[in-house]
Amino acid sequence: MQAKKGRHRLVLFPVPLQGHINPMIHLASILHLKGFSISIIHTQFNSPDHSKYPNFAFHSIPDGLLEHQFSTSDLAALVTRLNLNCIRPFRECLASLLSDNEEHVASLITDSIWHFTQDVADSFKLPRIVFRTTSVCSFLAFHALPHFREKGYLPKQDSQLEARVGEFPPLKVKDIPVIKTRFPESLDRIISLMMEGTKAASGLIFNTFKELEDNELMKIGQEFCIPIFAVGPLHKYFPASSSSLLRQDQSAIIWLDKQAPKSVIYVSFGSIAEMDETQLSEVAWGLANSRQPFLWVIRPGLVQNSEELARLPNGFLEAVEGRGYIVEWAPQQEVLAHPAIGGFWTHSGWNSTLESICEGVPMICSPFFGDQMVNSRFVNDVWKLGLQLEKGLDREEIEMLIRRLMTEKEGEEIRDRVMSLKDTINSCLEQGGSSNQSLESFIDYILSF
Ligand code: UDP
Repeated sequence: MQAKKGRHRLVLFPVPLQGHINPMIHLASILHLKGFSISIIHTQFNSPDHSKYPNFAFHSIPDGLLEHQFSTSDLAALVTRLNLNCIRPFRECLASLLSDNEEHVASLITDSIWHFTQDVADSFKLPRIVFRTTSVCSFLAFHALPHFREKGYLPKQDSQLEARVGEFPPLKVKDIPVIKTRFPESLDRIISLMMEGTKAASGLIFNTFKELEDNELMKIGQEFCIPIFAVGPLHKYFPASSSSLLRQDQSAIIWLDKQAPKSVIYVSFGSIAEMDETQLSEVAWGLANSRQPFLWVIRPGLVQNSEELARLPNGFLEAVEGRGYIVEWAPQQEVLAHPAIGGFWTHSGWNSTLESICEGVPMICSPFFGDQMVNSRFVNDVWKLGLQLEKGLDREEIEMLIRRLMTEKEGEEIRDRVMSLKDTINSCLEQGGSSNQSLESFIDYILSF
C-alpha cells in the first residue's frame, strides 16, 4: 500500500544512542519511500546529521544534559535524565507540529525507552506506536525482571550464575539482562515505566523477523494486547548505514581486499560497551594466540580511562604484525558483507546480530550487559548461529572459540545455518514475505487512525 504523498505525516523520536538511531532512521526511510512525510524530533546530544536526509524535517530539542553527563557509562542515569529533561521541550515541539494544519499527523513513533511520550501523545489524542529496537526475546526477559526478582534469581549470586532459569529457557541466571548502574532503583523504574508505556501504546514494532522469533512473538502477543509488527531486518532495505555518529574508517575495506576469502575474524563490541585494561589484554592475546587474521574495532571510550591504542599490551603489535588491522570505527555493514570475513566476534548488540545474520556470518558472542546477554544466549543455544564465550574475556577460551569457529567442522556447520537464514531473510523481505506483509499491515494500520 502506498500512502498518498504529502497527506500524512509521521513524527519519529529516536533515543540518542547509535544502536537506536540506526534502526529508527531506517524505519523513517522506509516509511518515506512508502509516501509518508517524516518529521524527526531529536535531542541535541548525539544529533543525527541532517544533511544526509534532505527528505526529512528535523526538529532539535534541548535535552538539558551538561557536558559531563554526555556519557553512556551509566545508561540508567542517562535515560532517567533524558526522560525528565525532555518532557517540556518535546511537548512544545510536538504541539507546534500538530498546530500546522497542512498535513495530518497520523501518529507518533517513539523508541520504547521514551516512556514519558505516552502521556504526551494521550494529551494530544495522538496514537503512539512504540518501536523496540532490540530482539523480542530480550524484551520478554526485561518484562520478566520483576518475576526473576520475586523468584530470588536477583540480585545474582555467584554460586547460581550457571543455573538455568526454569521459567525462561534457555536463559542461565548469568544471562538475566541487568545493566550496571549507580542507581539500581532508577533502572527498575525505567523498565517498569517502559513496559507500562508500551502496553498503553497503539502498537509495537520490532526490528526482527517472524522466522527467527516466532515463539517469542507469540508470547509477547499474549502479554501485550496491542497490534505487534515484526518488520525487520530494517537495514536490509538500504545498501549501507549512513546514520553513523562516528566516521567509518574505509581503510578497513582496503585491508580486507588483501585477505583470503573467509579468513578474517571481525571484532567489534559496538558503541557503548566498556572494558578495563585487563580485559583488553585478554582480548589482544586471545586474538594473537589464535593465529587467525583479524580486523578489530577499538572505539574511543572502549577502555575505561585510557588512550586505548597506547595501552595495548607490550609485544602485541609485533606478535600480530601483518595479520591484524585495528580501526577506531568501521563501516560495519560493508565489512560483514566482505568476502574475506569468516566470523564476527560481537558483543551481541541486536543491530550487530542482525547485520551478521544478513551477511551469513557466524558469530562468537561476548555480551557485556542488558539485552546483549539474552541475544547471545539465543544465538548460541536456540538459533545455533554462533558460540558464546562462557568465561567472560579469557584468552584461552577466546583462542579456542576462534579456532572452533574459523577452522573446524563445527564452524562450517554454524556457517551453513547462518547462510540458510540469510536466504530466509531475503525471502521474508520480498513481496508476500513475512516482514514485508507485516510492514504493509503496519501502514494500513496507521492510515486507519
Ligand atoms: N557500527 C559501526 N561501526 C563499528 C561498530 C558498529 O557502524 O565499528 C554500527 C553497527 O553496524 C550497528 C551499530 O553500530 O548498526 C551498533 O549497534 P548494536 O545494536 O549492535 O550495538 P550497541 O552499539 O547499541 O551496543
